[in-house]
Amino acid sequence: MSRRNPIRKALFNRDGNRCTYCQITLSHKTATIDHVKPRSKGGFRKSLSNLVLCCQPCNEAKANKPVSEFGDRLQNAGGKRL
Ligand SMILES: [Zn+2]
Repeated sequence: MSRRNPIRKALFNRDGNRCTYCQITLSHKTATIDHVKPRSKGGFRKSLSNLVLCCQPCNEAKANKPVSEFGDRLQNAGGKRL
């Protein structure tokens, strides 16, 4: 990662350095980017509205499930509009 990823930076600004699902504090090293709607289900890859910051365990737990199947954690994550 030699170049700064502007999407990642924008997500950090919007999501406030926290995992969207479990609210753990993230650093730039531990943060991962999750697709709210999986690409395999037609989610937009580069759309900020389809991307959230989350920690690696949550990302792996969610995998390719849509948020609705992953549980309601996202809806409890501060009322973000997604
Ligand atoms: Zn998490």
